[in-house]
Amino acid sequence: MYHEDCIFCQIAQRKIPSEIIYEDDKLVAFKDIRPLAPVHLLVIPKSHLGSLNDVTPEHESLIGHLLGVIRRLAQEFGVAETGYRVVTNTGADGGQVVGHLHFHLLGGQALEARIG
Ligand code: 5GP
Ligand code: ZN
Repeated sequence: MYHEDCIFCQIAQRKIPSEIIYEDDKLVAFKDIRPLAPVHLLVIPKSHLGSLNDVTPEHESLIGHLLGVIRRLAQEFGVAETGYRVVTNTGADGGQVVGHLHFHLLGGQALEARIG
């Protein structure tokens, strides 16, 4: 499903430019526009889901595939051995700003130990 007013739907459809580094029929991965670490990628489903709250059992294979892509990107971007963090901010208290499900992949430096 495509949401016309959703910035990540527009990125997935290449209607607005971004540095896309991976794409298949289900997912797109691109560089975060304001990187918080040397490696800061965003991985999203092409089909619009608002957040993790919208993920149902029928999305299990999609989410499994998405995590597999993140693992491969971590290798490709050279952080698999040094370590990295995968984050999905959900809702206001979770710090979610963009309302299209996305997973941050952060690495390339020692990240702060705190997660909250
Ligand atoms: P959130 O806080 O919703 O988890 O994170 C949204 C992320 O999307 C932020 O890290 C922000 O820098 C990134 N972002 C927002 N708008 C754009 C955009 O137009 N292009 C790209 N590449 N990243 C974006
Ligand atoms: Zn969307």
